[in-house]
Amino acid sequence: MSDKHKKLFIPGPIEVAPEILQAMAMPMIGHRTKEYAAIHGRIKANLKKLLFTDNRVFLSTSSAFGPMEGAVRNLVKKRCANFCNGAFSDKWHDVTIRTGKEADAFKAEWGQPITPELVDKALSTGKYDSMTLIHNETSTGVMSPLPEIAEVLKKYPDVVSIIDTVSSMSALKIPLDELGIDCCIFGVQKAFALPPGLAVFTASEKTLSRAETVENRGYYFDFIEFAKNDEKDNTPSTPCISQIYAMDLQLQRIFEEGLEARWKRHEEIANFVREWVLSEGFETFPEKPYRSMTLTCGVNKREVDLAKLKSMMGERGYAFDDGYGKIKGKTFRIAHMGDTKLEDLADFTANLKECMALM
Ligand SMILES: *Cc1c(COP(=O)(O)O)cnc(C)c1O
Repeated sequence: MSDKHKKLFIPGPIEVAPEILQAMAMPMIGHRTKEYAAIHGRIKANLKKLLFTDNRVFLSTSSAFGPMEGAVRNLVKKRCANFCNGAFSDKWHDVTIRTGKEADAFKAEWGQPITPELVDKALSTGKYDSMTLIHNETSTGVMSPLPEIAEVLKKYPDVVSIIDTVSSMSALKIPLDELGIDCCIFGVQKAFALPPGLAVFTASEKTLSRAETVENRGYYFDFIEFAKNDEKDNTPSTPCISQIYAMDLQLQRIFEEGLEARWKRHEEIANFVREWVLSEGFETFPEKPYRSMTLTCGVNKREVDLAKLKSMMGERGYAFDDGYGKIKGKTFRIAHMGDTKLEDLADFTANLKECMALM
């Protein structure tokens, strides 16, 4: 039983399509070659289309926390405002402090969004030259109102905005340049449905000019090193070439489906899961306007033994998430992102219902 693959409905990593796994088995090429540069250049061009940006787009061989740590090392000169409303954003504040930077955490309750008012209040003190925000808090299933927050950020042109879209990018329209986002960061094992180990980040002119003036940027995540190598469609260190093959193919698949169709599919599967959760007598952890487009965090109002449910689902070949961190057991999360289709979720939820009836 233990070697049987459990189909992933946890919010990361996400189920990866067989053709993507096959693409990763292609032979290696040297990364300082024209062949590599052609692939890298094509990925960059496609990412710019997907992200609606003319800013630089860099590929990092690491999970998302690589450039998340790199961004605060490169971009915080004076003091950073970390907005926190869940496990990943709390951790980002901790990471900021660990790099030796001055930083303050502005907290909202878990389950609540970061509001434009909170951002305005923090930045109006004039104490900050940088801020971090997680668009979609995967631990709580909360999506903060990015367009409204971005409007507030426009009042503070000296603040570099560092936005994590790890579990939202590509599931809905996030037009980076229109929003004025300086540095956007995401890993690929969530909404992109690729194996973990590759992250993407963007840098505006403001981002790069800030980085140039900041000392002790280190090497592996030095934004200026990335910018130099980007001129040659390359990376400072040896990139994860297998994952880059996968990203190249996944971007082609995304544009074959079409962006509008992809966003619409995500809306449909999100609505399906939200309605299922409510119809089964649970509640959603976030209030309605802040429910994530890519995962639903349910409140365990029925007091189901979630650990048992997880193990029963495991025996049926499905990976189920019984909550994250301090809300484990009190909440559960169902992912609806990446390549997931309505029928996959219909099958998954039908099995959940059967298991709950058997308990
Ligand atoms: C998963 C996740 C991360 C952590 O990314 P790693 O790839 O594990 O470094 C960061 N932010 C968000 C919102 C996430 O969902």
